[in-house]
Amino acid sequence: MQKASEDQIRKIVEEVVGRVVLSGGSAGEASVGDNGVFSGIDAAVTASIKAQQALVAMTIEQRGKIIDAIRKLSRERAEDFSRRTLEETGMGRLEDKIQKHRVAADATPGIEDLEAKSWTGDHGLTVVEMAPYGVVGAITPSTHPVPTMINNAICIIASGNSVVFNAHPSAKNVSMYAVRLLNQTIESVGGPANLITTIAEPTLDTVNELFTHRGVRILLVTGGPGVAKAALASPKKAIVAGPGNPPAVVDETADIRKAAGDIIDGGSFDNNILCIGEKQVFVVDSVADELKRNMVEYGAKELNVEQIKKLTEVAFKSGPNGEPTVNRDLVGKSAWVLAEHIGIKAEESLRMLIGETTSDHVFVQEEQMMPFLPIVRVRDVDEAIRLAIISEHGYKHTAIIHSKNIDNMHRMACEADTTIFVKNGPSFAGVGLGGEGFGTYSIAGPTGEGLTSPRTFTRQRRCALVDYFRIT
Ligand code: NAD
Repeated sequence: MQKASEDQIRKIVEEVVGRVVLSGGSAGEASVGDNGVFSGIDAAVTASIKAQQALVAMTIEQRGKIIDAIRKLSRERAEDFSRRTLEETGMGRLEDKIQKHRVAADATPGIEDLEAKSWTGDHGLTVVEMAPYGVVGAITPSTHPVPTMINNAICIIASGNSVVFNAHPSAKNVSMYAVRLLNQTIESVGGPANLITTIAEPTLDTVNELFTHRGVRILLVTGGPGVAKAALASPKKAIVAGPGNPPAVVDETADIRKAAGDIIDGGSFDNNILCIGEKQVFVVDSVADELKRNMVEYGAKELNVEQIKKLTEVAFKSGPNGEPTVNRDLVGKSAWVLAEHIGIKAEESLRMLIGETTSDHVFVQEEQMMPFLPIVRVRDVDEAIRLAIISEHGYKHTAIIHSKNIDNMHRMACEADTTIFVKNGPSFAGVGLGGEGFGTYSIAGPTGEGLTSPRTFTRQRRCALVDYFRIT
């Protein structure tokens, strides 16, 4: 039998000791990950702690190289990741998914986001630096599993942390595939093994394990109302990127043709599964017909009352307490598929269905995540803003206005109080696509961090040198 070298023995001892410490004495799951994929949370966290310690021992320049490699992989694999995601989740549109991976690669800030602050004066020099927490436990949604992972990983690693992902069960295969490739690419540029980890069988139980594991310092949770609520109740600091239901208001001063195009572009992007996507429109009566006409000219199809009724019946089910619940089978499906469900034959190129509803309609009040856009005709802009804010349900996520009236724009921006507010553009302009500013896939409204970036995952540390180094 071949003898193990001293180095091999040291590594084995380190791993066993790490696991015993973290699991309170039990050996836990297998400790050796397959490029970041583990069979249990405990093993993933153990490996992640080790990776984070190795990362902070490296130079900032090396961290930058790791980030560059992640960006490159995301660009090169954009189509591969998109096809696999579409196949596994059945939601969205291939070309939009490809763009989402490119945005994650190019618009996510890196190490430049970690700007130190300093004061100099009679009593010397004080600096504040951004320090990492350690291991971040992250939950990803089914709607953009890999772009969220890439965006989150860039932010988390740029700030010197490591990450354990609990992917959405219905996107676990593409998530595991991406984690393996990401780790290979990180190691290929000299980064530590297992900087990004995940588990092979994510469940609600593993979410809870991650939420309470003592090796996890903070949580980053991106998802719907259930997981947002669970994260807010967890014992750890949680950065919560919860649901939205973004309204778009169109007043009589707007460039109606442009508004129609922008709303269809934003609302139909990836079949309306983006949390920022336009989900309902409130339009002033005097320009409502013109808006609808322009939307149809731009590629939408208008449904009549009977057709909307039929679509509502297939798009919503009754929940456990009789409340309307979105039919997951139709979430992210193409407009022509929705049309087919109600007996309408449509071209596959159809981007969006539209139709007039009242403001209390379930399509207005629920986050439907499918390309049917309810349009509510209102008396004036006051009524539009009031009903738009009600439909947003206080998520404080995203709202949009199309107007040339500066008072209306200002008032809605103040009153909506959302994390993202877009004026005269598609919703995605608010995350840097066609608008200024950086991009993110985790918009933390409930906990207030806003558009997450590397600095979101840092602790501020102050260092004071007394009486010296004011050199002027
Ligand atoms: P989802 O809530 O179904 O799933 C998200 C994750 O949470 C999954 O990993 C899932 O397993 C887990 N989960 C779900 N319910 C849970 C519970 N009760 N306890 C513990 N874990 C639970 O979300 P989805 O449908 O995949 O994604 C769409 C939702 O995410 C929408 O509501 C959308 O608005 C929101 N979203 C928000 C942002 C943002 O930045 N704020 C970004 C993307 C998506």
